[in-house]
Amino acid sequence: MDVITRPADDLTDEQREWQMKARRFAREEIRPISLARDAIEGPGAAWDWEIIRKGSQLGFRTAVVPKEWGGHAIDFVTQALVMAELAKGDSAISKAFSQNWKWGHLIAGACTNEQKERFLRPFVADDTCVLGFGGTEPNAGSDNRYPPEDDPRAGMRLGAERRGDEWILNGEKTFIANGGVGRLFFVGARTDPDVPVTEGTTVFMVPVGTPGFRIGKVFNKAGWRFYQNAELVFENARLPHANVLGEVNGGTRARQKGGVAEFNDFELACNALGVCEDACESALARAKSERRGGKPLLDQQGVQMKLSEMHMLTEALRSFVMRIAREIDRGTHDPVNVVLLMNYSSDVIQRVSTLNLRIHGAAGGVTNTHAEKLVRDAIIWTHLAGDTSQRLKVIRRLARRAGAAGRGY
Ligand SMILES: Cc1cc2nc3c(=O)[nH]c(=O)nc-3n(C[C@H](O)[C@H](O)[C@H](O)COP(=O)(O)OP(=O)(O)OC[C@H]3O[C@@H](n4cnc5c(N)ncnc54)[C@H](O)[C@@H]3O)c2cc1C
Repeated sequence: MDVITRPADDLTDEQREWQMKARRFAREEIRPISLARDAIEGPGAAWDWEIIRKGSQLGFRTAVVPKEWGGHAIDFVTQALVMAELAKGDSAISKAFSQNWKWGHLIAGACTNEQKERFLRPFVADDTCVLGFGGTEPNAGSDNRYPPEDDPRAGMRLGAERRGDEWILNGEKTFIANGGVGRLFFVGARTDPDVPVTEGTTVFMVPVGTPGFRIGKVFNKAGWRFYQNAELVFENARLPHANVLGEVNGGTRARQKGGVAEFNDFELACNALGVCEDACESALARAKSERRGGKPLLDQQGVQMKLSEMHMLTEALRSFVMRIAREIDRGTHDPVNVVLLMNYSSDVIQRVSTLNLRIHGAAGGVTNTHAEKLVRDAIIWTHLAGDTSQRLKVIRRLARRAGAAGRGY
């Protein structure tokens, strides 16, 4: 898996160590089980606690939790390296670890010390504790993140009503990652349905076992089969007020403070980079080993063009990812660019994984082969953390800035 060489001299020793640790884990532990787990039939059945436990013991589950709470507080450059390396082993397993990192970011940004004691301490202590975030509902997906402006009808409807020191939640979330395996969910609920979703939402911390809260259907996905997605059902679920994250109706602000949406976008681009590297290496190996027309595929110009495009796009994605990672670490990044990065990664992963499939010929389309799995996994990027087309609305922010600068648009 080392075909693509990259300069490492701009990494610190610590960053390089994390990268190597992730690479070894991906090669020795993740890749050997990847296709077999993916092939297991049935919704949610591909999940494997053993790999989660092993990765957790190496620090991948708690990588971004602040050190004073027992985590590793790795910076964004290291996060990018680790996610990409793990994704080269299996992108769904990589995501199963990094999904927990939102907690590390949220906790630092939005939780009280009392909440950290109740939720963060047990999370860090238990190798099998994984977390989730519930925003999407059957009738509210990308418009949670990019609602039509000033329209209270858009966005989530799961409702929360206050009764004394408790909140009663009713409604349903869908496609929630780690549903069925998670111990604690951050859940967005509408606490004021008469104002836009960005102003009338509160985030609650919902531990498994909360009265009135249960897991519904687990989805049988085409890609990222290891990663479990399920419905979260709330039927008069009762939560103490102490489980509110940040302020009532301040859910969007709390998530912004915790950098949730931004981390989502960054995370998916890093993961896509790993998949693209993997696809490049897989295509190159195939092109070297197969002969057509009396010579290796690699010597055929048509194949060279495909390989060249794959490498070019992957290298461009790497540059974009690492630039953004460094900028976030320095606090100089433009949030608009993080959104554009995610969309770019979504385009690149589709193209690179498809070119890999084509270089494999008919063999690439056989069910449960590596090339075919990468294409199935890549499809997932179109509807993650919002929606790729909806995310284009970020252009509104650029237009506003251009207008404010008096340049028009
Ligand atoms: C693997 C996976 C993991 C996920 N994990 C989570 C999770 O942990 N937590 C969570 O909350 N969600 C999760 N989701 C859900 C994800 O966030 C949503 O799928 C995503 O936000 C898009 O929402 P949707 O699927 O409802 O599509 P929609 O938003 O309904 O979009 C469907 C189509 O309609 C278009 N469209 C929608 N609105 C408009 C509009 N106003 N104008 C024009 N076109 C429009 C979109 O562009 C898209 O093409 C996950 C999804 C997947 C696939």
